[in-house]
Amino acid sequence: MIDLWGKAIMKIKNHRLVGKDGQAVPYERSPNQSGKLDPTYLIMHFTAGSSARSSIEHLKNPSAKASAHLVIGRDGSIVQLVPFDRVAWHAGRSRLHELRGLNRHSIGIELDNAGELSGEPGRWTAWFGTVYPDDQVAIATHQYDAGPSAWQEYTEVQIAAALEAATAIVAHYGLIDVLGHDDIAPDRKRDPGPAFPLAQFKSRLLGRADEPEPLFVCAANLNIRSGPGVDFEKVRPEALAKGTKVRLEGREGVWCYVEVLDATGAPDLTGWVHGNYLARSG
Ligand SMILES: [Zn+2]
Repeated sequence: MIDLWGKAIMKIKNHRLVGKDGQAVPYERSPNQSGKLDPTYLIMHFTAGSSARSSIEHLKNPSAKASAHLVIGRDGSIVQLVPFDRVAWHAGRSRLHELRGLNRHSIGIELDNAGELSGEPGRWTAWFGTVYPDDQVAIATHQYDAGPSAWQEYTEVQIAAALEAATAIVAHYGLIDVLGHDDIAPDRKRDPGPAFPLAQFKSRLLGRADEPEPLFVCAANLNIRSGPGVDFEKVRPEALAKGTKVRLEGREGVWCYVEVLDATGAPDLTGWVHGNYLARSG
């Protein structure tokens, strides 16, 4: 999928993340999930693990009683463990304003990162014993601490992949905020920690919400399909009525990926329509 400026972007389809190559990211189902999720927030985590693979295996193990929707490796590779419309077990005992138990209200992304390190320059060591070179270590102050400590750095490609995935997730589900695990479980959790640029991440994600994609209107009754072509099944049996408002989110050839707005202007459903029958609104 490309956006309006011809740049490849990630998308959500059937509650799975679709990468910039148009393929769903690898899916390795975790049994650690429960119930239907209608997410409002995105929660960022570090794995405090030694590799993305070991963290994925852990989060797929029933005895771990933990999971996340996505795990993002230090090379930027993404694996999905739980569909975005199912509750994953990443937040634990947690609270935000009047909400308790944020698993039921949020999508969770885990970033492969060793977390907080102990030791000294030249000997920064993770809890599992690995020693990290100084050029992988940030000396930074956690929001709840008085002074600095050592944390493994995230990689540029990892943050870029997280931003691209989060952009698709926030847009698709209309999420209203992005938080760290330590924001919702301050007495227990220190992730994603001060090495993660949460403030910039948030402003990149939520700043976009102030610049909505262009609004179009259906110039005829228009079938809405699950993919860019007439061979794809209809997302719903009845056509979009002439005059229905949609937001254009991407294009493939003449086919347009749109978010359909209901009578109140709220997002209703997403799918593909033929671009010849869209007219720019107002
Ligand atoms: Zn966490």
